Amino acid sequence: MQSVDLIVHHALIVTQNEQRTVIENGAIAVQGNTIVALDSSAAIDAAYTAPKTIDARGRALFPGLLNIHTHLFQSAVKGLGEDMAVEQWVQAVTFPTAAAMTPEEVYLLSMVSCLENLRSGATTVMDFMYGMRDPALHDAVIQAMLDSGLRGRYTRTIVDSGAAMGIPPTMLQPAEESLAHAQELQARYHGAGHGRLDIGLAIGVIWAMTVDGLAAVRRTADATGMTITMHVNETPFDDIAAQELSGLRTIPLLAETGVLGPDFIAVHCVHVTDDDIARFAAHNVSVAYNAVSNMYLGSGIAPITRMMDAGLTIGIATDGSGSNNCQDMLETLKFSALLQKVGRMEANCVLAQRALDWATRDGAQALGLGDRVGSLAPGMKADFFLVNPFTPKAIPVHDPVATLVYSSGQANVETVVVDGRVLMEGGVFTHLDEPALLREAQRAAQNLARRAGTERLLEKRARWRPV
Ligand SMILES: [Zn+2]
Repeated sequence: MQSVDLIVHHALIVTQNEQRTVIENGAIAVQGNTIVALDSSAAIDAAYTAPKTIDARGRALFPGLLNIHTHLFQSAVKGLGEDMAVEQWVQAVTFPTAAAMTPEEVYLLSMVSCLENLRSGATTVMDFMYGMRDPALHDAVIQAMLDSGLRGRYTRTIVDSGAAMGIPPTMLQPAEESLAHAQELQARYHGAGHGRLDIGLAIGVIWAMTVDGLAAVRRTADATGMTITMHVNETPFDDIAAQELSGLRTIPLLAETGVLGPDFIAVHCVHVTDDDIARFAAHNVSVAYNAVSNMYLGSGIAPITRMMDAGLTIGIATDGSGSNNCQDMLETLKFSALLQKVGRMEANCVLAQRALDWATRDGAQALGLGDRVGSLAPGMKADFFLVNPFTPKAIPVHDPVATLVYSSGQANVETVVVDGRVLMEGGVFTHLDEPALLREAQRAAQNLARRAGTERLLEKRARWRPV
């Protein structure tokens, strides 16, 4: 008998490996942060012993989901400024909040986002933090990611223009300065949390960048190995602004300045042409599809099935809680499939299996982490969650993939393991006091809304102050 740290047995295991193998009555043996064996329960129980075992009878076990685009701090604006156009919402809510928030508030509200990701099965998150000048605000989000136990990539935004568009001075910096700060973050945090965290670059949006700034981001990415992510054509305005800036539309301009590449993760891509998709394909770009956010802001339907046909890698994402208004990856999983069906008026244009692929193995490939997470096999990181189907939403169950995508919710996510650590068991976080944290976060959000002046938006509405 070989001794390991953790055994989960008697689960129905959806491996999401290349063959999409499903093992009935399967088991996983975990040593440290790595899966050492995955087989039938009989085979694992005959070969391994562990001080900690989880009996997963009746449960399904899935690889942890990847949420490849969010703004964790945006829980700070959740519940404020609903039902506004994006330009109005950014000016009235997001920018004043970002200008007023303290590192303590950012930490607490980012923790809320992290916990909801975990509760909805997401074990890897790529955060897109605004280009705040104050380094302590960046450290606060990173600390929340580390303390939550998530795996993730923290990306630091570069915004070197856009004052005329209302970008506040606290978020504007010459590209060289913000790129230097991103490199500092990389030096300090790359590999932090026993290798769970890495650092990347983010370009805010085309209308907040100079052409020189775009080229500088590419140079830094090449020199450091950091990936680049960017909001691309969420609305038609991006192309108008890019043409004013350079005479080219957004995606041709990104190609021209060398920004596109296999390390580029384009977010949204709602308003793109066939020519844009062909350019993305030529540069092997990946796309972060944000179905709920696109619906929430009325942005439109990204032509994801056309991008898939062109060979692009698609991952899915919640976007920040400011435009969602939550971090529920199971809800996003469902809507990602449904929104394409609506757009195409074709029920079978995205199958449940495809949606799960986006949320797992394809999302991992988009982030360049496909050799570590997104599927379950010996040698992969031990990131997975158990689904208990016994809620009215999920029962009856037959096909585990269809149930996860269309009929489950946070109440079904019972146990979550990241990097070999059992972070949640029986629906309770084992490593932190969630009720206390939520109360502190509510208090912090109330104080912040008062200071930022966003409370005024509530003048004609009911107020809810639970603490
Ligand atoms: Zn976003």
